[in-house]
Amino acid sequence: MGQAKQRGTKEQRIAQAKERLAALRPETLVCGSCQTAFSEFEAMDTRGMRGIDAVFAGQCPSCGESVIAFKGEPDAVADAALAWQDAMGGDGKLGSQSSDGRYASLEDE
Ligand SMILES: [Zn+2]
Repeated sequence: MGQAKQRGTKEQRIAQAKERLAALRPETLVCGSCQTAFSEFEAMDTRGMRGIDAVFAGQCPSCGESVIAFKGEPDAVADAALAWQDAMGGDGKLGSQSSDGRYASLEDE
């Protein structure tokens, strides 16, 4: 391994990640089913998702539909959206699964 380079503490990295997410976070998500815009949603873990800068997900307060927004490279976003649809199936619970089978929010420390 050699010398481990210290690039800030874990806390600093988390703070930086949160700042980055805050900059990427949209004011609202819009439900694809009923077009309701809502602002209560979570940032999801994007580790292992190449080309994805951020993922935001929440549940429509009006119709209960799961809404998710990917930010990143267009190709990566398209892949992630397809993978998400596969994982969710017709009636998935939001936030229960990611590409590696884990879900973690930066807000839940
Ligand atoms: Zn809706």
